[in-house]
Amino acid sequence: MREFHLSLAFPLLLLLLLHVCSSWAASDSVYDAFLKCLQTNTNQSDQVSNIVYSQTNASYSIVLRNYIRNARFNTSSTSKPLLIVTPTDESHIGAVVICAKSIGTQLKIRSGGHDYEGISYVSDVPFIILDMFNFKSVSVDVDDESVWVQSGATVGELYYRIWEKSKVHAFPAGICPTVGIGGHISGGGYGNLLRNFGLAVDYVLDAQIVDVNGKLLDRKSMGEDLFWAIKGGGGANQNSTTTDIVYKWQQVAPSIDNALFMRMLLQPISSKVTKKTKTVRASIITEYLGTSDQLVALLDKEFPELGLKKEDCMEMSWIDSVLWWANFDNGTSPNAMLDRELDSASFLRRKSDYVQKPISKDGLEWIFKKLIEQGKPGFVFNPYGGKMNEVAASETPFPHRKGICTKFSTRLVKVKTAVDPDNFFRNEQSIPTLPSCERLTSHMHSQFLHSTYSTLFLNGFPCVLYQMRLCIPNEGVECTSLPLIVVLTVVRVVAVSAS
Ligand SMILES: Cc1cc2nc3c(=O)[nH]c(=O)nc-3n(C[C@H](O)[C@H](O)[C@H](O)COP(=O)(O)OP(=O)(O)OC[C@H]3O[C@@H](n4cnc5c(N)ncnc54)[C@H](O)[C@@H]3O)c2cc1C
Repeated sequence: MREFHLSLAFPLLLLLLLHVCSSWAASDSVYDAFLKCLQTNTNQSDQVSNIVYSQTNASYSIVLRNYIRNARFNTSSTSKPLLIVTPTDESHIGAVVICAKSIGTQLKIRSGGHDYEGISYVSDVPFIILDMFNFKSVSVDVDDESVWVQSGATVGELYYRIWEKSKVHAFPAGICPTVGIGGHISGGGYGNLLRNFGLAVDYVLDAQIVDVNGKLLDRKSMGEDLFWAIKGGGGANQNSTTTDIVYKWQQVAPSIDNALFMRMLLQPISSKVTKKTKTVRASIITEYLGTSDQLVALLDKEFPELGLKKEDCMEMSWIDSVLWWANFDNGTSPNAMLDRELDSASFLRRKSDYVQKPISKDGLEWIFKKLIEQGKPGFVFNPYGGKMNEVAASETPFPHRKGICTKFSTRLVKVKTAVDPDNFFRNEQSIPTLPSCERLTSHMHSQFLHSTYSTLFLNGFPCVLYQMRLCIPNEGVECTSLPLIVVLTVVRVVAVSAS
């Protein structure tokens, strides 16, 4: 028997080696053709070999893993790119687009690598990654109250650079500091300042992109239609108390003073009261732009059930609140946001949806029951309203302001068809071109309503985003006023008994 196993094992091993070698060989021929093309299409032909990683390159795996932000897609069976290209000069981007097109390979574009489904670095067909991480400059112009930020910069680096230059400016974007500008702002970009300031995409003044022909365009040369499209066109008696509070939160949070953002978390936890029993905890975390006294007075009037007291409040600067939300210890220097935490993915699965009518009390109790049964997943509720509703819905392709509107999808398809008729910039969830428009309704429905975060937004830019010019809000400019004090409170409402 032992002999049989050995003799069987050998051809299997040989077959495996042959398979690995033949995929390396395929990758090598793609590498040769791609490199030759890059050398022809850039004026730095001697340097471009340094920015292309084939599967046989010793650094290939680490370059790939650095920006895999989700361990679900960091396994041996996850599909791998034939090549990874890491441009260092703006002229390389156009050449990469031209060369990926000429060798007929799908191009995936990655900035921060935080896509929930790994769309920027995973594919079912052979593909090349255009990795934008080297483009991370953030140039803040305080006099002009604007900032040029490159697509490979992170949200944390943007916050840090603004804070470094000014203590009275801020920027309304997401909470996780390592999320990339390239995917984040193009998807809308929402965070704790959204009720007072709106979405990140509402502050885009200009952008530089590379089109399907490899040309670098700015707002003027791309035209207003494409500029529009790239801006977001991605228990027991206690039980009734919790249910009432969670129900009331739905009425209060989206309509209360714009300076107040109240995030609510529902999580299953082990009961401290009854051993071996699960309960659900509702936590309301608030961020208020003003003083503790003002916040206590406001909640006393609008949401007295929370019983907020001044001693529950922490007053701090905007930049400290950013660190707090990102789970850094008190007193951490803002420098911490410059750490990109490379190659440190954890497992994650998230889905988002929009609630247009408050969930009934029965519905909430059903959710509590399901959370207890499942034991692990939690819910995060972010209230919209405020400034979000004041921006005209047609202003950006982000469709989720006062509701979901399919006419934007149609406009997106028209722009996409005009600028990328052969659908070169495509991914598994991207906006289709016109011939397949009849499939649009069901496509959009599944994409925008029942999918992951990122697919709630415009996915699959019809171009490569190189950099954006953003307005940074401060008192007196066209982007409304910014109070300096942020008050944070956490109220862990009630634990619901499992029974
Ligand atoms: C832990 C975590 C926390 C998050 N928190 C928030 C939050 O608070 N608020 C919020 O709004 N969102 C949040 N998100 C969602 C996040 O904004 C999106 O997933 C976003 O698309 C990630 O951008 P990225 O550049 O890091 O990702 P990538 O994976 O690099 O890219 C995401 C998508 O954008 C495309 N893309 C990236 N760069 C470019 C470019 N330069 N040109 C063209 N296309 C490009 C990719 O091809 C892909 O389709 C969070 C995500 C995670 C994982």
